[in-house]
Amino acid sequence: MTRPHGYARYKLDGCRCYTCGFAAAQYRDARDHAIRRGTWQPYVDAEPARAHVRELLACGIGTRTIAALAHLDRKQVYVLLHGRSDRGTPPPAQIRPATAAAILSVEPTWENLPGTTTVAAVGTVRRLQALTARGWPQSRLAARLDMTPGNFGALLAREHVTIATARRVRSLYDELWRTDPRDHRVANQAYSRALNQAKAKLWAPVGAWDDDTIDDPQAYPDWTGHCGTSSGYNAHFQNGVLPACQPCLDARSAHRAATKAVAA
Ligand SMILES: [Zn+2]
Ligand SMILES: [Zn+2]
Repeated sequence: MTRPHGYARYKLDGCRCYTCGFAAAQYRDARDHAIRRGTWQPYVDAEPARAHVRELLACGIGTRTIAALAHLDRKQVYVLLHGRSDRGTPPPAQIRPATAAAILSVEPTWENLPGTTTVAAVGTVRRLQALTARGWPQSRLAARLDMTPGNFGALLAREHVTIATARRVRSLYDELWRTDPRDHRVANQAYSRALNQAKAKLWAPVGAWDDDTIDDPQAYPDWTGHCGTSSGYNAHFQNGVLPACQPCLDARSAHRAATKAVAA
């Protein structure tokens, strides 16, 4: 399943290509402008609200949900898109600012996207890897997600997951990230095996992520608290977090090149 490049792909698949970035910037601008313009006029241009509805539809949110979230009648959303077939009138050029504001206030979120919508798997995979690095055996995590070990293994390799799966993994993570598996009847041997597996695969621990970064495809784990800066490379050695991560290696190369350029 591939979405065309644009706002929905930016939001749901985490695509950061130029087209998607541009579409996302336009989405935000159009929304901000329309909300600001609507504060004083009796009628406003209907197009920004209409375009906003199309973006929501592209994200998988149906007109029924949009209407419910905007506290509007579903018919209003329908008329905005299609006009009135009973009267043969086209979609309106202008609408009430309150209607526009109500529609523009609806944003795709984890809570209101349908469970079947697919999203980038990156945050889901990182959460499960971090729990493994915490010592949670995959068999236990799989059981908590009502998955077979085979399906669980496949999940870790996926690029996309449904919102329903992403939500379940997120709530499991929120429940377990602070816990010590050994306090929850995980045997020492299984605990060590999970730790070793995560270490061998360089899976980032819970502490390398925060809520702002874990779902961001562009973000990288901060193993040392200084990753990606010129002091990150040394921090890896000081903290015994080895090998140094790629952003730290890159930062060191850039720093060396800059130092050389100054010396020359
Ligand atoms: Zn794109
Ligand atoms: Zn690093």
